[in-house]
Amino acid sequence: MLKRALLAVAIAAVALAGGAVGVRSLVDARCFSLAGEPICRVETQAPLVALTIDDGPTQEGVDAVLPVLDRHGAKATFFLVGAEVRKRPDLAARIAAAGHELGNHSYSHSRMIFRPAAFYAREIAETERLLAAAGGGSGLFRPPYGKKLVGLPRAVERQGLIMVMWDVEDPVTADPQVFARQVVAEAQPGSIILVHAMSRRSPVPRQALPLILDGLAQRGLRVVSVGDLLAATERSGVNGPSGGP
Ligand SMILES: [Zn+2]
Repeated sequence: MLKRALLAVAIAAVALAGGAVGVRSLVDARCFSLAGEPICRVETQAPLVALTIDDGPTQEGVDAVLPVLDRHGAKATFFLVGAEVRKRPDLAARIAAAGHELGNHSYSHSRMIFRPAAFYAREIAETERLLAAAGGGSGLFRPPYGKKLVGLPRAVERQGLIMVMWDVEDPVTADPQVFARQVVAEAQPGSIILVHAMSRRSPVPRQALPLILDGLAQRGLRVVSVGDLLAATERSGVNGPSGGP
């Protein structure tokens, strides 16, 4: 009897652990969501990739990144944190004035799972207001840490925004050359590339950025904002972000 009870407890523990792993992989899934449809890449043969730069704005990030993008004739989408935009609206305005796209990366950059609906709504709306004041939001949202479950995607959709994930992300390495090589190798037409070039903790993504842009150009891939990637894909009549009919 005791044995059977122990067995039942063991089975329950395994099921719980499995469930937890399942929920975790759902929370972190780049291309799937329980509510709404996140975009992590688009299907296209056009030689275009979107560059996205997350967090900030930071002074060192903006100072380093804008001239590099300009030299390469590249456009990017900057997913900015509302609280940081509030501190430095001038930096957000500089990014927009340089012709790049401003995206919403929440207000507080907290993990946006298991929170009340009103929390998501506030985080998104307040940041949209700040982006509009800085030169215009793009209607694109990226979840902090890429984490989402049900409440956040619903709130994003309800506010008329599109959730944008990515299919190529910055590798973990202290070597800008290795960093750039890996990003360039993984990029495909229609890719959405994430580089943390605003980071205050590490200059490596910033140092890698010009090498990435050189490498992508050598592969014949043009670097555009997410909005431009979506627009070009729709215009060319190939499958859109939802993967076609
Ligand atoms: Zn972030």
